[in-house]
Amino acid sequence: MGKVLGKKRLYEFLEKVSKGADLIAPVKTDTLRFGIIKDFNDICLEGRPLFPLKKFFSPAKQDLFRLNLGEKDEPFKEEKIMIKPRVIFGGRLCDFNGLLKLDKLFLSEEFQDDYYKEAREKTLLIGINCDPPPSKYCFCESMDLEKYYDLFFHDMGDKYYIESGSAKGQALIMDLEDYDFLMPNIHCEKKLVRKELAQHYEDPAWEQENEKCLSCGKCTSHCTTCLCFDMLDEMQANLKNGKRSKEWDSCQFENFTLVAGGLVFRKERLPRFKHRIYHKLQYFREKFGMDMCTGCGRCIEACPRLIDFTEVINKFK
Ligand code: SF4
Ligand code: SF4
Repeated sequence: MGKVLGKKRLYEFLEKVSKGADLIAPVKTDTLRFGIIKDFNDICLEGRPLFPLKKFFSPAKQDLFRLNLGEKDEPFKEEKIMIKPRVIFGGRLCDFNGLLKLDKLFLSEEFQDDYYKEAREKTLLIGINCDPPPSKYCFCESMDLEKYYDLFFHDMGDKYYIESGSAKGQALIMDLEDYDFLMPNIHCEKKLVRKELAQHYEDPAWEQENEKCLSCGKCTSHCTTCLCFDMLDEMQANLKNGKRSKEWDSCQFENFTLVAGGLVFRKERLPRFKHRIYHKLQYFREKFGMDMCTGCGRCIEACPRLIDFTEVINKFK
């Protein structure tokens, strides 16, 4: 049993739940993208933003610490970034499942990312159901997504049906009217036929799709779950001051596997393409028991050559 909220009361509801926090939702600018909302009328729930949510949890470029070797007491000064509480409204199930995958890595006991942890703890997730799928590239129905949110809305014309997925979410809708409804499942025309990838490494279908690739990295920068980064050290000419920063990287770049001595492990584009997909659908599953893909279709839609790994896999015999 969920709750119901009249559409006329949406802004009032958002105002209440985002008091003292930044409200992040899809807005139409040059394209549809997640942004901080200044005016509720800017919220646009038609379509899903091509850029994912990950920048709010792991920025594209982030300074980690400054180096000042002239200062005996504090030669390393950590760059502490203040994170305001945030409410994300209008994310899709694929967006929030993307965070679930990032949690596995950045909140692992082994390697916890403090910035990511604080950002996650300060964020409330309010999603909206896709009915119908917002893009022809979506294939999330093939990807076993989980109900991962604090609240989840379903558009019913003049009202929203709301389900809670956490105690925090439940507390926010306690005062709303009860409503009995079965949230419909999404049906995507596009499918990924699941195969045992290990048996298909040499399949010629990989090459046919890969030969169009430009190694531009848009597939990974737009991916809901791609999380690889590089560490950069910059020193000033005095060799005393400098900084270390973290920056998104892409396994589709030739220098991604460059190591000391100039050796590049994946020099050709084909093994780089295969690595991206094996990481998504095999290596991550071996480590965390789930795919590292949510079926959001962003990597296909953003690619200048519309390279589609689902078509490669679906062709395997
Ligand atoms: S976006 Fe397309 S062209 Fe660019 S690296 Fe990815 S697959 Fe290749
Ligand atoms: S690999 Fe493609 S479909 Fe899968 S999560 Fe990344 S962008 Fe979405």
